[in-house]
Amino acid sequence: MSEAPHLTFDLEKPGVSKGDLVVPKGADCEALSLPVFSLNKGEGPRLLITGGCHGNELEGPIVARRLIEWLPEAQTCGRIIIVPVLNPPAVQAFTRNTPIDGLNLNRVFPGRADGSATERIADAVSRILLPTADTIFDLHSYGPGWEFPLVNTTHPVADPGLMAKTIRMAEAFKLPMTLIWEHPETPGMFDTLAQNQGKVFICPELGGGEVGAEALAIYEAGVRNGLIALGLVEGKSDYLTFRRQNSVQALETRRSSDELYSPARGIFEPRCSMLDEVKQGDLIGVLYPMDSLTADTIDVLAPGTSIVCGIRSGSYVEVGEFIALLGRPLNR
Ligand SMILES: [Zn+2]
Repeated sequence: MSEAPHLTFDLEKPGVSKGDLVVPKGADCEALSLPVFSLNKGEGPRLLITGGCHGNELEGPIVARRLIEWLPEAQTCGRIIIVPVLNPPAVQAFTRNTPIDGLNLNRVFPGRADGSATERIADAVSRILLPTADTIFDLHSYGPGWEFPLVNTTHPVADPGLMAKTIRMAEAFKLPMTLIWEHPETPGMFDTLAQNQGKVFICPELGGGEVGAEALAIYEAGVRNGLIALGLVEGKSDYLTFRRQNSVQALETRRSSDELYSPARGIFEPRCSMLDEVKQGDLIGVLYPMDSLTADTIDVLAPGTSIVCGIRSGSYVEVGEFIALLGRPLNR
């Protein structure tokens, strides 16, 4: 009988605590220790901040570490728990999925105590960390191969009260874009598990795959704006300048019409940038089939008036691969 997942310290202790979330060993690997920071200032909101769910998205772990250094002098009430790296084997390998079992941590929630490494991490997080918080900031990035603005994403939530609360929280980050993303029914997401328990779940994403100083500064400022909105720290939040814009747009994207897929295999060349406005028939990108020079290049056109939320960088794509995400102003 293996041990149960547990924390190596008492969360109720006032002030700063540092320790580990222990994920028990299983058939495929030894026990994992996920470093956990907690700052308990008594009454107030209960927040959980997580990074490193996907191992090739390093902005989250970096911003989480910066917050750990900053919060002891800034936090005025409530409790913030921070886990910079949810999936240490994936972060160490710089892979989206866990190298031990090949699984995507954000597809196996609530996990299994007797499952493989990724499932055991999800089980420990679901049982030990999730119950401690009313609000979760799960820090992601869109990863390599995409041009994607710094955006807070949320999927539509069935409960209208929770949906409104989630959008308000997402917009409080004052990032360049808030995106309500209609998503295919994807089982096992951390978001869904938390939302089904009535919690506000916020997921910042940033595209590019390269960790740059400017984008990181905006990312961190956005999270701090979120903390101010929750009342956990004092201060005045500001709109963040990104690509010379300091406006915030709330957009929604529909799965049926706003996700564009490659019509053939070949090299995709983007012809517009994120946050561009496009009209029906405007050129989004060009697909060059490389298997034969008799195959014509294919124009990928905008199906309607929309804003480019994210676009694939120049890359070789297979037929049916996701190449662009469009959106339209949120219909409130
Ligand atoms: Zn991710």
